[in-house]
Amino acid sequence: MTSLQLLRELWSRGIELEYTNGELRYSAPRGRITPEILAELKRHKGAISRLLEQNPSGAKHPDSSTQTTRPSKKFGIEVNRPKSSPLVPEDFRHPHPYFRFVEPYKGFLLSKLDLDKRYVRGEGVWLFDEAGHRILDCIAQYGALPFGYNPPDIWEALHAVRDCSEPSFAANSQLDAAGALAERLVGLWPEARFENVIFGNSGAEAVEAAIKLCRAATGRQRLLSTRGAFHGLTLGALSATGSELYQQDFGPPTNDVDHLPYGDSEALEKMLLSRPSAYAAFIAEPIQGEAGIVEPPSGYLRRARELCDQTGTLMLLDEVQTGLGRTGEMFASQTEDVAPDVMVLAKALGGGLMPIGACLYRSKVRSPQFGLRHSSTFAANTLACRAGLATLDRLEQSSYALISSVKENGAFLKSGLEELQRKFPSLISAITGRGYMLGIHLDFSELWRIPGLLGFMGGQSLAIHLIVSYLLNVESVRLSPSFSSGNVLRLEPALIANRAHCQALLVALDRVFHVVNCGDAPQLLAHMLGGITKPAVRQPPEPVRRPSPGRRELDSEVGRFAFTVHLMSIDDLTNLDPALEQFHPMQLEQLKGQMADYVDPIPVGNIELTSKCGARAYGELILVPYTASELIQMDPDKAHDEVRLAVQIAQERGAQVVGLGGFTSVVTQGGLLLDAQGLPPLTSGNAYTAVAAKNAVIKVCQDRGLRMERATLGIVGAAGMIGRATALLLADRVERLILLGNARYPERTRARLREVGIAVLRRIWQLSAMGRRFADGSLAARLFSLAPAHPASEEPNFAAWWDLVDGASEILISLDPEADLPNADVVLAATSSVKAFIGTRHLKRNAIVCDVARPFNVDPAIVTSRPDVMLIEGGIVRVGGRINGGIHAGPYPGVVYACVAETMLWALEKTFNHVRADSSMSMETIDELESYSCKHGFEIEI
Ligand code: PLP
Repeated sequence: MTSLQLLRELWSRGIELEYTNGELRYSAPRGRITPEILAELKRHKGAISRLLEQNPSGAKHPDSSTQTTRPSKKFGIEVNRPKSSPLVPEDFRHPHPYFRFVEPYKGFLLSKLDLDKRYVRGEGVWLFDEAGHRILDCIAQYGALPFGYNPPDIWEALHAVRDCSEPSFAANSQLDAAGALAERLVGLWPEARFENVIFGNSGAEAVEAAIKLCRAATGRQRLLSTRGAFHGLTLGALSATGSELYQQDFGPPTNDVDHLPYGDSEALEKMLLSRPSAYAAFIAEPIQGEAGIVEPPSGYLRRARELCDQTGTLMLLDEVQTGLGRTGEMFASQTEDVAPDVMVLAKALGGGLMPIGACLYRSKVRSPQFGLRHSSTFAANTLACRAGLATLDRLEQSSYALISSVKENGAFLKSGLEELQRKFPSLISAITGRGYMLGIHLDFSELWRIPGLLGFMGGQSLAIHLIVSYLLNVESVRLSPSFSSGNVLRLEPALIANRAHCQALLVALDRVFHVVNCGDAPQLLAHMLGGITKPAVRQPPEPVRRPSPGRRELDSEVGRFAFTVHLMSIDDLTNLDPALEQFHPMQLEQLKGQMADYVDPIPVGNIELTSKCGARAYGELILVPYTASELIQMDPDKAHDEVRLAVQIAQERGAQVVGLGGFTSVVTQGGLLLDAQGLPPLTSGNAYTAVAAKNAVIKVCQDRGLRMERATLGIVGAAGMIGRATALLLADRVERLILLGNARYPERTRARLREVGIAVLRRIWQLSAMGRRFADGSLAARLFSLAPAHPASEEPNFAAWWDLVDGASEILISLDPEADLPNADVVLAATSSVKAFIGTRHLKRNAIVCDVARPFNVDPAIVTSRPDVMLIEGGIVRVGGRINGGIHAGPYPGVVYACVAETMLWALEKTFNHVRADSSMSMETIDELESYSCKHGFEIEI
């Protein structure tokens, strides 16, 4: 006996099962358990327990265990965003009062995509904006506008109410309009044997009433619903809605709702038969709308009907969206000839002018408890009901001619869409639905093969928003930005849309899919940047190599790392997609501003390397879509969230260690400010950057014949992590040291520079203790001569030693680069300034300057204005391996920045317990990295 057969058997014997606190219990209120059945039950205990465990009596959603914890900012895609980071900037004020006062969140996001239009007129399938543009509306308010905007016959019915002064809100009396509408509604489908109607003001309200009705009629509490279902957003209806997207943050949904996979008859059977008297109702849509136009396999509703009948469960069909002609039938469930016990309607029933919902039910569902205790002030109001009556008149006109036309035109539209699918097979994965309820399922996972900006967005859902924006602004076709249905474009034009409208829609879709398929970002985006252009035909480009959208599986020997980067400047956009060069830099600024809040950090490049000694590592660059100054200026919590999200994406993609590049490190203090829980080890890469800078300086001095022991070294940013480390690494090699810090916070900087000075003394003392001898006259030797007397066996008092050094000429602490930097023969710049501030006047004749900061501290103009100065970037390392992607991990192919190199070294070594996000870089770690770099053949590049 299979577990399903057993469940059937149990059900037929009146035996019920329950799984609580890890225990499977049975009871036989209506039957008897035999020893054979008991033996079978023991045999299938595991499978049945698992089944019931997934759907316990609590309110736990079955999807909750698989829900990703990765927070994301995407509107309508994933909303599991960290609370600390508001979606709308504090200072954002939409110019229109609706978006300012009513929907600030949507207003902000729609404005970014140029979708926050104002329409001044609606007529039939057309909307007109302020500039007089005519737009073909293919959403029809998700089916609530059956006859388009302002249908004259519905208006006439409303005017007639005014003309005859029919009363509107007169509850507890003989309401003519509501009575007539109820009678007409139950008569629409005589075979269904509906006898009564409850009116409400919306779909959700009708669903609420239906749930109460079913509970009262059966005396059962539980509801069985389906995953992905949408039944409205009031709390009861929301509990039946099968999507966490809508449920989370609003408190636990109503108890006693279980969700099953939609369309899965077997799961339904198992569930209902295992608890045959548990459920008041099984609620479902005949076609799921919000979930992305999902049709169940044929036979599903029929089987559901049978199972409901077998178990005394009421069948509740939600035809709020599908009903009244949308699918080419009056009701979608009529296609399978399955009539429910309870059916809810709304949307189209108001004829596009009035809000109204209705719940139709059979006599067996009637109960005095419900009948006397449910009401709603505005329900059954005259205007809404007259609109409903006029709607039915129109639908029934000429033997349901309008609904027949939806069937025919819908089939025409669907076959046109299927043709588009054949034309763009990698972009369109499926066409679903029927009548005027169709879904185009887009698959952006292949976009990543396309070079350019769109390719980088392959894994993200932004592309669908860009498509909707293009259609609206360029093609004058209005579709819905996808809120919950992922990558599905929903087509739900008004029922009055004709062939020509369908044809126009197909042409517009053809054009936008062509643009996307070619990776033609400029074409797709131009309208957002103040220029509307028509496509120049481009051929689909050759595929390129770049990180695939998902995690790459590699053998376990390969150390895996990732490195977070940010945009250096707006030029990086054109590195990602050279075609964007046709835009003015100001347009690119605008583009970036519009898109950054929409895009998750993007994997933009990958690196594979096999080092000199045969160790292997694989890493990816994850781009945070902001520039350095944006990261610095944004709300710190938001900046941390951005970086954390990049790290989480890296981790999901397999990284075992993550390097924080540039300002992703600065704004998080090398990762210290990130909540480290659950994250992989983080490094700023500063330790090895210091090593690389030291080696670069030594090499250039040698090449230029400069004797370092006679040179003054000026370190700009000496209070920072890299500056401090280079001071320690080079102190024993130079004649004088100038430690420069930021004058903006003089007290704090002086204190920190003093700490660096003391650390230099400690380093020199340690080197000496390890046997290092310093040449007479060298800085180290002179510092020793200033040391306070102390017993040879003990450490000196370094602070006291520093007080003797401070003020002497050996080590100078300075906050004044104008005055002191021109005395340096060698300059090492390592600040986190977002602007270059070291120029011609700061540099001594023939100075050697090493700029390890990103963005640069040294004005690049000195290359031409000061040919005597030798300017090197520093911090550049040549490694083996290959780099792919639009943003390199170094200034040119084949080399990487030292901070990336450090992350690589940890990955090559596959030792992660010494990786530190903190600033207390120990000299041991620095020395360890230097030895790893020799082992793996990393070389400093100048
Ligand atoms: N049920 C279904 C199937 C729906 O599509 C909707 C709305 O989209 C509702 C219920 C809720 O209707 P309303 O928005 O009028 O509350």
